[in-house]
Amino acid sequence: MTESETRELLAGLAASLYARGFSVGSAGNISARLDDGFLITPTNSSLGRLDPARLAKLDGGFRHVGGDKPSKEVFMHRAFYTARSDAGAVVHLHSTMATAVACLPDVNEENPIPPLTPYFVMRVGRTMPVLRYYRPGDAAMEPAIEAAARQARAVLLANHGPVVSGRTLVDAVYAAEELEEAAKLYLLLRGHSPRLLTAAQVEDLLATFG
Ligand SMILES: [Zn+2]
Repeated sequence: MTESETRELLAGLAASLYARGFSVGSAGNISARLDDGFLITPTNSSLGRLDPARLAKLDGGFRHVGGDKPSKEVFMHRAFYTARSDAGAVVHLHSTMATAVACLPDVNEENPIPPLTPYFVMRVGRTMPVLRYYRPGDAAMEPAIEAAARQARAVLLANHGPVVSGRTLVDAVYAAEELEEAAKLYLLLRGHSPRLLTAAQVEDLLATFG
């Protein structure tokens, strides 16, 4: 895919997420790896109204080399790209249901959302570590995300929201969507003792599709 095609795709996927309520105001940011660096949504931009030509461009060392000023949360993306050579894109949202789970005090810190459906397991993977609360912009968040991202394709920032990676932009966006829907199911089913996928069913999914 050319850089121009990646710019168009990123803006189109972002607008779709915004239109369906996955992001409001200027919340959320999306990045994609290029052959010569990265694209990321600009600071204070709305996912609903991105101009593909004005996306921030970073070089391979994450220095700003073109377009508008990058998101203040660029370091979350850098943490994933540094930790995972397979990450081609990163999506960070403050989507309601996943963020609601991120506010619960009693979740499993390795798997805050249990394996309810196969597509969640296939897209997000075996674990999604919950990281403690950090003030937005706190530099201590980056090494914590980087360490967690070595073991997982997605992390959940306590009282903040999810950060999700994927091999491609489409993969990362689909994983963020699947995560939000799984969080919704989990919250709907809390207190109902739902039937979960078994450990063997999860291993079978990961062996077949992971
Ligand atoms: Zn955020």
